[in-house]
Amino acid sequence: SENLKRLLFMEIITAVRGFKDVLPPETEKWRYIEETARDIFQTFGFREIRVPLLEKTALFQRGIGESTDIVEKEMYTFVDRGDESLTLRPEATASVIRAYLEHALYNTETVTKLFTSGPMFRRERPQKGRYRQFHQIDAEILGPDDPHTDAELILMLMHFLKKLELPHLNLEINSLGCDQCRPPFRAAIHSFLRGQEEKLCSDCRRRLVTNPLRVFDCKVESCAAILSGAPLLQDFLCPPCREHFVKVQSSLDLFDLCYRLNPKMVRGLDYYTRTTFEVTQESHGAQNAVVGGGRYDHLVRDLGGPDISGIGFAIGFERLAAMTPKPKTDASDGPLLFIAILGDSAFDEAFRLCNRLRMKGVRVEMDHGGRSLKSQMKRADKLQSVYTLILGEREIAEKKALLRNMRASTQTEIHLDQIEETIIELER
Ligand code: ATP
Ligand code: MG
Repeated sequence: SENLKRLLFMEIITAVRGFKDVLPPETEKWRYIEETARDIFQTFGFREIRVPLLEKTALFQRGIGESTDIVEKEMYTFVDRGDESLTLRPEATASVIRAYLEHALYNTETVTKLFTSGPMFRRERPQKGRYRQFHQIDAEILGPDDPHTDAELILMLMHFLKKLELPHLNLEINSLGCDQCRPPFRAAIHSFLRGQEEKLCSDCRRRLVTNPLRVFDCKVESCAAILSGAPLLQDFLCPPCREHFVKVQSSLDLFDLCYRLNPKMVRGLDYYTRTTFEVTQESHGAQNAVVGGGRYDHLVRDLGGPDISGIGFAIGFERLAAMTPKPKTDASDGPLLFIAILGDSAFDEAFRLCNRLRMKGVRVEMDHGGRSLKSQMKRADKLQSVYTLILGEREIAEKKALLRNMRASTQTEIHLDQIEETIIELER
C-alpha cells in the first residue's frame, strides 16, 4: 500500500479536458494578435472594457436565449456556496451589456464602442479548433442603428484580419429581419417541413418547436439536404429591414470588400436581428468559422435597459491564431548577451553584472549551476544569444574580457568598467 500511495502521489495532475495551455512561443503570437487588434480598434474609436468571467446565470438565460445550444447544454453553471446560480461566461456580449446598463454608460454618450478579450467557457465536445475554455476578441457598438455602423464594424474586422495576413477568408452576410418579418417566415418553415419531421435529426425536431430558425444551423447532412429547398428569410423581410440590408451592402461596396450573401446563415444566438455575418476560412475543415457577429436591436431592452440598438462580433482566438502566420519580427527572442563563467570565483561579479544589465532593460542570461564552460556555451547557442562574454578570475582582475559576436564569429576586448555602456550601445 506504501507503493500504491507513492504511485498515486507521483502521477501528475493534468489539465481539465478541453482546457488548454498556451505555451511560448505561441503566447508571443497571441500577444501580437492582441496588440494588433488593440491598435486597429482604437483607431476606429473603441475603448477597452474588462468584465468578470462569472455572472448570474439569469443574464445568459435571458440574453442568449433559453432555446439555444449554449443555454440548453453548454454552460458551466453551478450553485455558489450560498444559493445563487452562477455561470462561467459562454460569450461576452451579455456581460458587456450588463456592465453598460449597470454603469448607465448610455447617459454619458450616444455611441459606445467597446472591445474586450479573454476566455469563454462552453461544455462542447473537445476537438481540433473546439475547446471548453477558449478565447475571444469581442467588439460591440451600442447606440446607433444605422446601416453605416454595420458596415463600419465589418470593415474594421476585415481590416484587422487582413493586417494579420490570413489567407482565403470568406465574409458572409445575411439579414435575420425583425419581430415583424420572422413570424410569417416561421409559419412558412413549419408548413414546408410538415410531413418531413421524421427525417430530421432529433435536435431539429426539437428546434422546430422551440426555435424553427435554428434548423438552418444544423450540421447534420441529411437535415441540410431536406432544407435545401426551404423558404428563405430574405424573401420575408419587411420593407425597413430590406432597406437596411441593402444599405449595409452598398456601404460595404464603398470599401471594395468582398463578401457573399448567405441566406441560410442564422447564427447560434437568439438575440440577433437584421445584419449578421460570419468569417470562415476555406482550408480549416468543419471548425472553419473564425468570427461571428451581428446586430441586436432588442438585447439591451430585453436585459432590462432602454431600447438601445447594438451590433458586435466575436473572434475565436484559437482558430485565428492557428491561421495567423508567424509574425515577422527583426529581433530574435533570445538574449542579447550570455555571460559564461570560468571558475566559481567569477560568479558574484557575473551575477551582479547580469542583473544590473537586466535592470537597465538589456536581455541577459547566465547559468547558476557552476557547469562547465562547454555546457554554458552550449546553452548560449541554444538560446541564440547574440553575444557571449566569458568571465574568469583573470578577466575580473584585469577588468577586461572578450565579447564574442556569435553570429559574425568575431570578438573584441572590452573594459569591464564600461561594459554597461558598451552593451547598451550594441542594443541600439
Ligand atoms: P461554431 O459554429 O463553430 O460552434 P459558434 O457559432 O458557436 O461557432 P460564436 O458563438 O459565434 O461561435 O463565437 C464566435 C467564434 O468563437 C467562432 O466563430 C469560433 O471561432 C469561436 N468559438 C466558438 N466556440 C468555440 C469553441 N468551443 N472552441 C474554440 N473556439 C470557439
Ligand atoms: Mg457553437
